[in-house]
Amino acid sequence: MNAEQAEIRQTAKEFVAKNIIPHAAEYDKSGDFHGYILEAAKSSGIFAMAVPKEYGGLGYGPLTQALVLEEWGYGCAAMGTTLSASILSMESVLIAGTDDQKRRYFKPMLTAGIGAFALTEPAAGSDAGAGVATAIKSGNDYILNGPKCWITNGGEAAVLVVFAATDLAKGAKGLSAFIVERGLPGFIMGDREEKLGLRSSNTVFFFMKDLRIPATNLLGSEGDGMKIAMETLDLARPSIGALAIGLAQRCLDECVKHLHERYPAKMFPGETLQFDLADMQIQIEGARQAQHHTMALREADLPFSKEPAIAKTLATNVAMAVSSQAMRLMGSHAYTSEFGKFMRDAKVMQIYEGTNQIQRLVIARSVLAPSKVIAPAMKEGAK
Ligand SMILES: Cc1cc2nc3c(=O)[nH]c(=O)nc-3n(C[C@H](O)[C@H](O)[C@H](O)COP(=O)(O)OP(=O)(O)OC[C@H]3O[C@@H](n4cnc5c(N)ncnc54)[C@H](O)[C@@H]3O)c2cc1C
Repeated sequence: MNAEQAEIRQTAKEFVAKNIIPHAAEYDKSGDFHGYILEAAKSSGIFAMAVPKEYGGLGYGPLTQALVLEEWGYGCAAMGTTLSASILSMESVLIAGTDDQKRRYFKPMLTAGIGAFALTEPAAGSDAGAGVATAIKSGNDYILNGPKCWITNGGEAAVLVVFAATDLAKGAKGLSAFIVERGLPGFIMGDREEKLGLRSSNTVFFFMKDLRIPATNLLGSEGDGMKIAMETLDLARPSIGALAIGLAQRCLDECVKHLHERYPAKMFPGETLQFDLADMQIQIEGARQAQHHTMALREADLPFSKEPAIAKTLATNVAMAVSSQAMRLMGSHAYTSEFGKFMRDAKVMQIYEGTNQIQRLVIARSVLAPSKVIAPAMKEGAK
């Protein structure tokens, strides 16, 4: 971390302490979207941290973004997910967008707008190529039809990257990616998901019924969708790792705070308990280093594929384990909905942006064929 990154991290820490931590439990309870955070973050430009400077954004590199996301994960994984899912969608545009598409897509983020990445369908989760949503060319337009589900920010985003088949018969190879602006006729919003965790993060089902968009909204070429989606997920997975590491560190810090309060005058009881705390810190630090290594590879423009999958799997498993260990050490004091939020939020991190089983497929393929360094899962259409 250089001096500039340290300063950015400190600013993020202060923002989280002031705006996120005090409100996280309240929004978790209501399940309402934490829209206020967009307003609070407006002056910082943080929702445009992944937008290159030439498009008016902050142009933070991957490691700097991860430092910010770790702080947001420390404060509230739901609010962190809003930020990271928006960045996820931006990655697709950065990968495949034209200059004009980038300018249009990034514009809302400059004023704390958010984006969404819509790949999943009821019948297409891990097997992302099994979707039924279609995009049929009609003159200078495409007409989109079909369902999308479990879409983070879907009900709040100003712009979305939506995946749909331009040739359904080709399966994963027939998938294409499109920019869809909010508010078009034919974009039918479904219900908000009532989730176990990440409760104030907006997650929705939506349906597209003859939704017409200009053909210029196609990202890349027809059939590029799966490639764009897999490359996007490769780039974005470490962000989930960053949120998970922040969540795990928060659990350890809360646990230590509780133990200090409970045993004010003497040492913590027994070495076993101290070993437990040390083990938690070992897990967190290991995950953090794996994640920073991934970011360093990316910043050096070196090829990577198994590393983001390793970083995501490790960090999210650590978040689940550490949140559970913290509850064990704190006993009934942690068996509250407020502390339980950490475990509930950690659980989904093992599921979204590719389950940890799918990450293992990516890792295994890379181990078996190390020369194929770019998203080996792409061929199978496995998310
Ligand atoms: C809170 C939340 C937010 C989300 N946000 C988004 C979003 O913004 N955009 C988006 O597009 N999607 C989003 N998703 C969807 C998410 O990416 C999918 O849920 C995920 O990819 C898994 O798909 P699935 O739920 O259909 O599970 P399935 O694919 O049905 O998997 C079920 C189980 O089978 C295992 N499995 C499946 N295939 C294999 C295999 N080949 N080998 C071994 N095991 C396998 C999985 O690991 C899992 O344990 C979100 C989901 C949640 C819960």
